[in-house]
Amino acid sequence: MSTPDLFGRTPITDDDETIARLLDDVSVPTLLCAMVHITGDPAWIRDEEIKPQGLFLNIYDGFMSPEAQAEARARALPHILAFRDSGGELPPPPSAELVQEMMAFIGCAEIPDDTVPMMLSELNLDAEGVPSPEAPPVAHSDFPVVVIGCGQSGLLAGIRLREAGIPFTIIDKNAGPGGTWWENSYPGARVDVGSHFYCYSFEPADHWTEYFSQHAELRDYFVGVMHKYGIDEHCRFETEVEAATYDEAAGTWTVRVRAADGTVDELPARAVISAVGSLNRPKLPDIPGIDDFDGPSFHSIRWDHSVDVTGTRFALVGAGATGFQIAPTIADQVEQLNVFQRTAQWMFPNPNYHEPVPDGMKWAIRHLPYFGRWFRFLILWPGAGVDLSGPRIDPDWDDSDGLAVSQRNKSTRDFFLGFMAEQIGDDPDLLAKITPDYPATGKRTLQDNGSWLGCLKKDNVDLIRTGIERIEAGGIRTTDGVLHEADVICYATGFRHNDFLWPMEITGRNGQTLRAFWGDEPAAYLGITMPGFPNLFCMYGPGTNLASGGSLIFHSECQITYIMQCIDKLIANDLTSIEPTSDAYDTYVTEYRDEIGQMVWSHWAVKNTHYKNAKGDIHTLSPWPLHVYQSWTRAPDFEKFELG
Ligand code: NAP
Repeated sequence: MSTPDLFGRTPITDDDETIARLLDDVSVPTLLCAMVHITGDPAWIRDEEIKPQGLFLNIYDGFMSPEAQAEARARALPHILAFRDSGGELPPPPSAELVQEMMAFIGCAEIPDDTVPMMLSELNLDAEGVPSPEAPPVAHSDFPVVVIGCGQSGLLAGIRLREAGIPFTIIDKNAGPGGTWWENSYPGARVDVGSHFYCYSFEPADHWTEYFSQHAELRDYFVGVMHKYGIDEHCRFETEVEAATYDEAAGTWTVRVRAADGTVDELPARAVISAVGSLNRPKLPDIPGIDDFDGPSFHSIRWDHSVDVTGTRFALVGAGATGFQIAPTIADQVEQLNVFQRTAQWMFPNPNYHEPVPDGMKWAIRHLPYFGRWFRFLILWPGAGVDLSGPRIDPDWDDSDGLAVSQRNKSTRDFFLGFMAEQIGDDPDLLAKITPDYPATGKRTLQDNGSWLGCLKKDNVDLIRTGIERIEAGGIRTTDGVLHEADVICYATGFRHNDFLWPMEITGRNGQTLRAFWGDEPAAYLGITMPGFPNLFCMYGPGTNLASGGSLIFHSECQITYIMQCIDKLIANDLTSIEPTSDAYDTYVTEYRDEIGQMVWSHWAVKNTHYKNAKGDIHTLSPWPLHVYQSWTRAPDFEKFELG
C-alpha cells in the first residue's frame, strides 16, 4: 500500500506543464485551503471572485463557475511551482481562528465554535491532542485483552493496543480482516461514504481509484493496514467467540472460542473489546415456502459466485442499500430481473457515485500539504449533522399525512422527488411505484447517480411492489396470484441489526447475561460501556450507528480513544475493574431516548425499517452530531465510573 505521510508532503518532482494539467482535475475549494497552508496567506479564501457558492454532500467543486475555477487554478500554479522549487518549506500553520474561517469558506456557512476542535484534530493541528495515557507504553504482559471482530473497529483496537504495549488477541469468524468488506462480495458492493473519509484518519489513502470504493479495494485497504501495523500475528481467523464470562473474584473474563475445525479454547482477558459490527448476521425473510425453491438461492452477504447468473431469470428480494447496488450491476447480464420491493426508498443524487478519482486529485492528495485533509473535511462536513435540524421532528408541524416532519423535511422531500421525477417523469406508473409514502430521510437514504432509476426503466427489469405470498419451486408468487418465474433468488433482506452482540452469551457480574440486562432495549453509556459488565467495551455498540451521514470509522476512532484511556486508568492505578455507574448509564439512556424520539427515524410513519426493533423503538442510531460525540469521547469522566 502506498501511503503518503499525514499531510501530503511527498516532494513534488513534476514539471510545470504536468502540474498545470493535473490542477485541472482538483477540487478548487480544497485547493484554495491548501494554498493558505502553502503560502501562509489568508487572501486565498477572502476573494469573492474565487469563492465556493455552496456545499452539498459529494459535490466537490463548491458550485463554482468554470471561469472562477480556472482563475483559482491559474493563480495557484506559480505558488505551487515555487513551493516545489523551495523544497517544500511551509510557513507556520494557520491559527485556530483562521482554520475556522477556512471551514466556513468550504462549508459556505457560519461554523459554530464548538466544532473547531474536531477540525483541528482532523488536521492534526491541535496542540492539546488526546491526553497522554497515564501508563507508559511498556509491555503489560499481565493485562491481556481479547478483541472480538477484525473489521474496521477491531483492527483499529489492535493498532492502539499494540502501540500501548498491551497483549491482545483478535478473534474473527471470517478468514481475513475488514468485516463487512471481507464478507460482502455481491456484484456492485461499494461504500456510500466518500472513501477519503471512510478510512482511518491516521492512515489516509491516496490511491482510491473511485470516490466510492468497491468492496475489493476496501478489503485490500484493511488487509494492507493489518500487515503494516503488524496486527496479523495477533489474529485468530475463522474462529467465533461463543461466550465471555466475568469472574468477579479474579477480575478477569474468560472468552470461549470455537475454531472452524470445532476446536474449543478459553482465553483469559482483563478486558474485552467487542468490535463485532451489527450488519453481518443475515436476516432471511419470514416468507412461506422459502425452502421450496428449486434453483439456487442465497442471501446477499453469501453471494454464490459459483452460480452464473448470465441469461437467467433473476429474482431480487429486497431493495435497500444492498439491492440498490446489485440490480444495476447485473441487469444487463440477466435475461429478466424482477426486483421485489416492499417499501419504496428515498434517494438523493450523487453524480460522483461511480466516478474514478482523477489523477490530479490523487496527485494533490499526495503532494499538496493539507489538501487531503481539507478534502476529507469537504466530504465530512455536510454529513456531520452539526445541529441535526434536518432529521429533527418539528413538534408544531402538521404531520397527519405522514409525509414530512418539518418545513425543512418537506423541502427535502420536494428536492428528492424532483430528482426522481426528472429521470422517471415519462413513466407516471413507475414514478408512483418509487415514491415513498413516509418522510424523506426516515430510513437510510440511498444515493443514485442515475444507475438505479435507469435500471428500473430497462425492458428486462420489473419493479414489483405487490407483496410476496410465498416462494414456490418455480419462483415467487405475489399476493395477486401471479407466479414470477425465477431461476435464481437473491435475498437482499438485511441483517439482525437490533440483536447486539448476538449470538454470543456474555455474562457479567452476579451471573447476569447481557441479553437479560438489555431485554429488547439494548443501550450503553456513550454506546460503549454497561454497568455490571466491568472492563467490557463496545465499539459500534447500541446507539452509535449513523443515519444522518458521517463515517463509522470516525466513530470507531472516537470510541477507541476513550476505551484506551479506560484501560490506561486500570493499568496505571493497578485497578481490577471499571464500569459506568448505574446513575451515569440511566441518565445517558434517558437523554438518548428523549433525543432519538425527536428524530425522523423514530416517526410513526416510518415503518419497515431495520433501525426500529419489533416494538417500533430505536436503540441502534446515534442522535448526536459527530463533533458532540467526539467531544464526549475525547477523555472519560471517571466520576461517571465505578472503579474497583
Ligand atoms: P435493508 O436496508 O434492511 O434492506 C432490506 C430490504 O429487504 C428492504 O427492501 C426490505 O423491505 C426488504 N425486506 C426485508 N424483509 C422482507 C420481507 N420479509 N419481505 C419483503 N421484503 C423484505 O438491508 P441492506 O440493503 O442489506 O442494508 C442494510 C444496511 O447495510 C444499510 O442500512 C447500510 O447501513 C449497510 N449497507 C451499506 C452499503 C453501502 O455503504 N453502500 C451497502 C449495503 C448495505 P422494507 O424496506 O420494506 O423493510
